[in-house]
Parts: sequence; C-alpha cells; structure tokens
Amino acid sequence: MKENRPFHIHVPPNMTELLNLYNKAPSSRLMAGATHLMNHTFDTESEHYSILSISQLEELKKISRTERYTELGSCVSINTMIESSVILSSPLLKETLKHMGPYPIRNMATIGGNLCIPDRRMDLYPVLLLLDSRLELRHIVRKRNGRASYKSRWIHINTFLNNEGKLSLGAGEILTRIRIPYYDGSFHFHKKVNIKDNDFFTINALASLDKGILSDIRMAFTNGGLLVLRSRDLEANLMGRRFPLIRKELDEIMQNLNQFFKAPENPYEDYLMKSLFRQLLESLADPSEALQNFS
Ligand SMILES: Cc1cc2nc3c(=O)[nH]c(=O)nc-3n(C[C@H](O)[C@H](O)[C@H](O)COP(=O)(O)OP(=O)(O)OC[C@H]3O[C@@H](n4cnc5c(N)ncnc54)[C@H](O)[C@@H]3O)c2cc1C
Repeated sequence: MKENRPFHIHVPPNMTELLNLYNKAPSSRLMAGATHLMNHTFDTESEHYSILSISQLEELKKISRTERYTELGSCVSINTMIESSVILSSPLLKETLKHMGPYPIRNMATIGGNLCIPDRRMDLYPVLLLLDSRLELRHIVRKRNGRASYKSRWIHINTFLNNEGKLSLGAGEILTRIRIPYYDGSFHFHKKVNIKDNDFFTINALASLDKGILSDIRMAFTNGGLLVLRSRDLEANLMGRRFPLIRKELDEIMQNLNQFFKAPENPYEDYLMKSLFRQLLESLADPSEALQNFS
C-alpha cells in the first residue's frame, strides 16, 4: 500500500512573509477555506507537499465600498458576502451565492478560492465576468542584490483566463482583491442544472430594459469545467428588440443560435444550453411593464 507523504502547512503572519515564502517555493499550494483544496486539488503523492495558509490574513478579509464598486479581499467567505449589505446591489450575485453548497461550506469557502480552482470555473466566475469585475494580483520580484520588489497588477476578470481557459496566474502570484462594479440593470436570470456528480450547467444573465426595449444584455453559460460561453455578437443582436418577443421572432433567434455559439460537445449540455436560453428569452420583460399588465 502506498503511503501518503507528509506535508507542511505554513501560516505566514502577514502578506510580506506570505509573498516571500511563495516566491521561494512557487510549487506550494495556497490554502484559503480549503473546501476544494482538501477534496481535490491537493495531491499528497505529488511534489507540492507544502501548503501556505492565507485565511488568517486580516488584509484579505476586508470589504470596502465606493460610489462605483465594492472591493473584497480574496479571503472573504461566501456567507460573509451574503450577510454583507454590499451584495444587495446585485440580485444576480445574491442569488448565486445563496445556491453555493451547504451553509457550513459557505462559511469556509472564499471568493478567491472559488475563482482560483485551476481546472474548473465555479459559480462566481461567470457572474463576476458579467459584472465587469477586476482582480488584483500580487507577487514579489527578487533582484540580483537579494532585495525584493513588491508588485501589484489589476486586470479585468476576462484576462484572468488564457486561450485554453486556464488561470493566468504567474509563479508565486496571489489573487488579493476583487473589485465588483455596481450594475443598475432591472433584470437578472440565474439557472443551475446538475449534469453529473458535482458538475452544474449554468446560465447567468443581466439586462436593462427601457419601456420594453432591451438596452443592455450580458449572459454567459458555464458547465463546471473549463467551458465559459459568452457571445458579444449575440448580445448585440438582441439589443434594441422589444420584449416580450413575439413567437416568430423567438423561434428565429433560437434557430440561429449556433451562428453565435459552437455547440457544446456533450449533447445533454447542448440541449441544456438551448432550453435555458429559450427560458431566458421567454422571461425577459421589463419588470415595470410586467407589473402594469398584472395589475
Ligand atoms: C460540499 C461542497 C459543495 C460545494 N458547492 C459549490 C457550489 O455550489 N458552487 C461552487 O461554486 N463551488 C462549490 N464548492 C466548491 C468550493 O468549495 C468553492 O468553490 C469554494 O469557493 C472554494 O474556496 P476555498 O476558499 O475553500 O478554496 P480552497 O479550497 O482553499 O482553494 C481552491 C484553489 O484555489 C487556490 N487559491 C485559493 N485562494 C487563492 C488566492 N487568493 N490566490 C491564488 N490561488 C488561490 C488554492 O491553491 C486551490 O487550488 C463546493 C464544495 C463542497 C465541498
């Protein structure tokens, strides 16, 4: 029987020490809430038998607000986000967070850990993408004279993934802050369907309607793996149309869907993509007009 190799957990007391340790041993694994790490990512038979804990760093648990955005440290937990008033400004974010695993997991799981699982795009990536979020990444560069220079860069979340859908985190680089702009659209849509085991196919959408005319729409499909489908051309094609759509127009859009998206390889995912998109189109309506029709 194979024996698991021992591994070390380092608990750096501050960011400087964390960045230094990570710079010296970039094959270490960062551990935030550990809800994913301990179940999947951490392979006790591999070389990376050193863990750097980051969840004790107060700096990574801060939440601040400005008139335009909310900024969260990467170790803010999912439940803290739900309980904090900051997410009230985004009903889509709120709904997504509430459907993320059982309560004890949400207590431990962090926003940063959710975005940094290497081979999976979890629930928060598509929502933060639609909200045009920005990420701060930090690392240190060691100079020839041994001195360290601390680097921070802000990137748009869509450049966090490379062409293959993998994370573009450099060696020794850490996600430290997430900036989420406010979005004042009047409509959101979130559906999550179990495909198999722990994989879910999801559709997320945000939209603004002005007297029934669609003035903005953003939407994305994900499958719990590396698939993230978003088509700006399709979004542009929908804008300017009056909602609710008449049946003929709706059928026409559905027929042309594959012009905008390469169909997912798995036929069940292809079916889900089409049926969830149809549900989105059928429910898109100006909330104020829908209310008038109801009363
Ligand atoms: C029962 C159960 C149910 C779950 N349900 C859901 C669900 O419904 N939706 C969902 O989206 N997820 C779900 N998850 C998956 C997971 O718990 C979450 O995605 C969680 O947010 C991961 O955060 P964490 O802090 O625990 O990450 P960790 O497990 O600590 O880390 C995850 C990965 O990210 C890396 N990492 C962590 N922080 C950083 C950082 N700041 N910078 C760079 N790399 C970092 C780690 O090295 C690791 O590879 C579930 C998990 C369990 C066990």
